[in-house]
Amino acid sequence: MHILHISAECYPVAKAGGLADVVGSLPRYQRQSGVDSWVVMPAYRTPFVEQHRFEVVHRGFARLGGSWFEYRILREETDALGFPLYLVDIPGLLDRSAIYGHADDFERWAAFQIAVLEWVRSFERKPDLIHAHDHHAALIPFLMTACPEYEALVGIPTVLTLHNGEYHGEYDLGKRFALPWFHPEKAGLLDWGGRFNALSCGLRTCWKFTTVSPTYLKELTQGANGLEHLIRAEWGKGSGILNGIDTEIWNPETDPLIAERFGAKNLAKGKAANKKALCKEFALDPGLPTFVFIGRLVREKGADLLPDLIGTFLAEHEGKANAIVLGTGDPELHHRLSHMSRAHVGYFDASLQYNERLSHQMYAGADFLLMPSRVEPCGLNQMYALRYGTIPIVRDVGGLHDTVVDIGEEGGNGIRFTHFSLEDALHAMGRAYDLYEDASAMAKLRKRAMAQDFSWDRSATAYIDLYRSLCRT
Ligand code: ADP
Repeated sequence: MHILHISAECYPVAKAGGLADVVGSLPRYQRQSGVDSWVVMPAYRTPFVEQHRFEVVHRGFARLGGSWFEYRILREETDALGFPLYLVDIPGLLDRSAIYGHADDFERWAAFQIAVLEWVRSFERKPDLIHAHDHHAALIPFLMTACPEYEALVGIPTVLTLHNGEYHGEYDLGKRFALPWFHPEKAGLLDWGGRFNALSCGLRTCWKFTTVSPTYLKELTQGANGLEHLIRAEWGKGSGILNGIDTEIWNPETDPLIAERFGAKNLAKGKAANKKALCKEFALDPGLPTFVFIGRLVREKGADLLPDLIGTFLAEHEGKANAIVLGTGDPELHHRLSHMSRAHVGYFDASLQYNERLSHQMYAGADFLLMPSRVEPCGLNQMYALRYGTIPIVRDVGGLHDTVVDIGEEGGNGIRFTHFSLEDALHAMGRAYDLYEDASAMAKLRKRAMAQDFSWDRSATAYIDLYRSLCRT
């Protein structure tokens, strides 16, 4: 089976969040199961793109609205990621260092998808299935079925994965006129509530869609930023497949980004050494329980709760606990967290940047990872934390529900709280503090955490079963 993944992110080429981790690892695990998976993504100007060699495998011109754009398809020469990686180079549109947040994002994603289809159309042997990820690739199933230009691709099954149902690729409805000519009776598929909505179009036109955890699929029927009704209508096409983690990259025994490598056998020593290194970096006392948050500083992640949550907790446990935040996002939160760093010198610090190395050191060196998310499609952080013997404190939502079991239940591996409130989150941190005081219970829990299996093996098979159900090969 030959599968083409289409995505805006792929680790280590370009990463903003979990989408990159998934697209950078799932294809490798699929290949181990005999599926010929490739990835195609935009050629941004990231360090990876600048430092690797690429061969031009295809080039052409395509139309977007009233103008033409030139594109090239590049293949990374060494298969450094363990699977064929193709980049779409469109000068003037995609060749920027930042992945998101440009004024011409509609044009960027539309041109990217058109270039991909132009290229695929030129294949002698077409892919057996196209797997599109998130709204940046969600027009693919529509273009394949509504545009006469792509008629040759009509019978290829499509799967759309929702890594995040909050972002839809929503624009003015007039943008539809920039797309290649499509049968006019299909225009309604681009319209959701009078706006152009790429994700809703993808959901309606793909053969099957998946979400990155089973609980998130159910939750989307209640909250999908306006698409709840559509999710219910398309329910029969949906399935929830839990993300796995790349256990080669996220392996405390071999991780080159942490101060001291460790495994289950030297867990206590390894954690202590990494905690010491982490605390040294922030001038904190490694003798105290250390809570961390790693992630985008946005509402979805519950980041707006952090200043009050951490501030109150540190005030209640004065001189008895540390906290560190690593993230970027809402400028107002940057401001509040910087202010807190000055107010709690020696006990709190915020690193307001994107830093892959530091994130690894934090998973390895922390005692507890905070995830007070409002919405969590899957969440990878809690799985990384568990693998590094760090106990997650999570709100019971989405993929966190599917991966974290409360210590009060059989097989518990973390601490859960139900309601999104300061009181409940504080209570959860208090339970963690009490647990930390009981050294032997803490050691046992860490050991259990590290033994959990969140590898891709199980989920990669679920995707392959889904592909098989759609492909005739
Ligand atoms: P989302 O994709 O919604 O942001 P996930 O939990 O699926 O959330 O994935 C987040 C990924 O991004 C993890 O690999 C996490 O370690 C990483 N990450 C998020 N923010 C930062 C940051 N500021 N520095 C380093 N890594 C980060």
